[in-house]
Amino acid sequence: MQDKNQKIITRFPPSPTGPLHIGNVRTALFNYFFARQNGGQFIVRVEDTDKVRSKKEYELGMLDSLKWLGLSRDGQLWHQSERVEIYKKYLRKLIDEGKAYVSQETEGDNKEVIRFKNPNKVVTFTDLIRGEISFDTTELKDFIIARNINEPVYHLSVVVDDFQSGVTHVIRGDDHVSNTPRQILIGEALGVPRPVYAHLPLILAKDRSKLSKRKHGQSVSLDYYQKLGYLPGAIVNYLSLVGWNPGTDKEIFTIDELIKTFDITQVQKGGAIFDPVKLDWLNKEHMKRLPKNTINKEIYNRLKNNDIISKSEKINDKKFVEKISETIFNHISKWGDIDTITGEGELSYFFEEPQYEAEKLLWKESSPDISKKHLMWIINQLDKIQNDSFDSADTAKNLIFDYATENGKGEVLWPLRLALSGKEKSPDPFTLIYILGKSESISRISNAIKKL
Ligand code: GLU
Repeated sequence: MQDKNQKIITRFPPSPTGPLHIGNVRTALFNYFFARQNGGQFIVRVEDTDKVRSKKEYELGMLDSLKWLGLSRDGQLWHQSERVEIYKKYLRKLIDEGKAYVSQETEGDNKEVIRFKNPNKVVTFTDLIRGEISFDTTELKDFIIARNINEPVYHLSVVVDDFQSGVTHVIRGDDHVSNTPRQILIGEALGVPRPVYAHLPLILAKDRSKLSKRKHGQSVSLDYYQKLGYLPGAIVNYLSLVGWNPGTDKEIFTIDELIKTFDITQVQKGGAIFDPVKLDWLNKEHMKRLPKNTINKEIYNRLKNNDIISKSEKINDKKFVEKISETIFNHISKWGDIDTITGEGELSYFFEEPQYEAEKLLWKESSPDISKKHLMWIINQLDKIQNDSFDSADTAKNLIFDYATENGKGEVLWPLRLALSGKEKSPDPFTLIYILGKSESISRISNAIKKL
């Protein structure tokens, strides 16, 4: 058992057989918080013994992801594939001491395997989250610990590695609870200290089904969220709240605050729901806390990725781009939303003359003459303004809103919005006037009048 003065060491040991699953990310986070809040160490180990399924690209991707999330590891990066000689030594020791034996198999392709001599007893451990767990290991029989002397199975290598790297706390997914008795038995046979265990609840979709690649596709991988332009701080924050809460109303945390506040004993036992809507909300909260410059730069860069927009002169007008940024920012919850909006051509009208059919200008049963009259009235009002650009959308609103209320909001504002954007859905016409400026607005409204 643990010595109170012992340095706490946790580990994150993914298998590089696919993109990092968000469940694994949460496991990494909880290990990281626990190590850091105790002044301990956080070790990363690559469990790459499966030569067929392990890929270097997944390993590198996973290391990039840890960096992106802001999780720094301590010490060397461990690779199981480089440690076969060490596992061999431990396997020999077990065989020599009569605690394991080579078994001739009659079934399957394997001729010889190494089996653990099960002492057939009840193993009890106190899980930091699930409390006391007892397991009668008799039913495990003499389980396999190596396919041959060069190929230990996961249970053996994990015990050897955790021991050699001094791991004191094994914090991992619930799906490993049933592996724990085997690993405890192996540890006892090797005479190594038993780590403290904490098994985290599975992450479930909103319909309480297990989050799986088969059912939920790419959205189970961290990559997916990276590509959509979520902020790493928001992902860290959100995943921390999947299965844990601070017991207060506070929901927005930085990683440093999480290190201070996280409490492994308060992690819930039952399945934890992953809610993409809540993630979007939290991401937006983190976005709002970014410096204005960062926000404008990100929006500018994404706008420039769009063909139509990048060809327009206006993209170089800093003031203009800042104004659109305000509007765009109100309509997104992650950076990738900008790509979606521009991809659908939703912002093109800010950069080029809108194209639309004349009939679209008419509100319901309204006539061309009435629409024309309202648009002319608006041009006259805008003409009275001295400056070409407005301070805010309110300038136009103050000019037009009362008139629109008296003459019918639809009758007045619908053709105005259409004239300015060519779209049935767009920011309100006052915002459009503010962004486009006086002369551009007047020119677009005049064009609409010509069409009518
Ligand atoms: N490589 C295992 C996995 O990715 C880790 C098991 C463990 O934490 O002991 O599930």
